[in-house]
Amino acid sequence: MATVDIRHNDTVKVIAGRDRGKQGRVLRVLPETGKVLVEHVSVVKKNVRPNPQKQIKGGIAEQESPIAISNVMLVCGTCGPVRLRHEERAGKKVRVCAKCGTTLEKE
Ligand SMILES: [Zn+2]
Repeated sequence: MATVDIRHNDTVKVIAGRDRGKQGRVLRVLPETGKVLVEHVSVVKKNVRPNPQKQIKGGIAEQESPIAISNVMLVCGTCGPVRLRHEERAGKKVRVCAKCGTTLEKE
């Protein structure tokens, strides 16, 4: 399996599957299953039962479901979806855009 190089809060683009072309923020990375949860991607509607004790109103809730990491690509702010490269900058290992060399770390 490919190395998990996608991290929480990264912006990714979906390159395969039902939501191909969509772009969103990574909400969660699930390394055990090789999947990620991306905001507004692979949304499923769920019926929610009312639970007055927990202040939950019944109805339909929308929730993201995990998609395969291999189906997403990291997005560079200038180039769009890109492959990334690892580089050492100022003694730190960072992920950089393979095209323009900009670091993709959010700090
Ligand atoms: Zn770039």
